[in-house]
Amino acid sequence: MRALSYTRPWAELVVGGFKDIENRPWTTDYRGRVLVHAAKSWDHEALDFAEIVEAQLGRNLGVRDVPRAAADHPTGILGTVELLDICSVTIDPRRSCRCSPWAVDGQHHWQLGNFRRFAAPIPCRGALGLWRVPADIAAAIEREVARG
Ligand SMILES: [Zn+2]
Repeated sequence: MRALSYTRPWAELVVGGFKDIENRPWTTDYRGRVLVHAAKSWDHEALDFAEIVEAQLGRNLGVRDVPRAAADHPTGILGTVELLDICSVTIDPRRSCRCSPWAVDGQHHWQLGNFRRFAAPIPCRGALGLWRVPADIAAAIEREVARG
């Protein structure tokens, strides 16, 4: 079972279904379920960026309802998304793509779907890259997923 660690509140923006593109400087052949892990670190500019994207999309995603304080954002594994595909078009600076306002030029655009939040965060340490969760935590997640 694979996971990605995010600076908060990016984890919330992903698992909440606000953000359908994940920008990463690297790519992977992996496709399928990815656990969304919220790390302790906090990006105080993330919600301002999300409001700009919301304006570009021209529809209300509900970014204003996302808590602004780090204390209101849990750490741990918040839920899952599905990595559907990866667009690497803008790695070539002469090219552009139409992924989403979330997509940043020069990055690989991980296309996400099937956003699903767990009833409660599952405590877990994070790691770099597309990491594998420890077996005991994977078992807890399987039980959470089976609850439907
Ligand atoms: Zn793209």
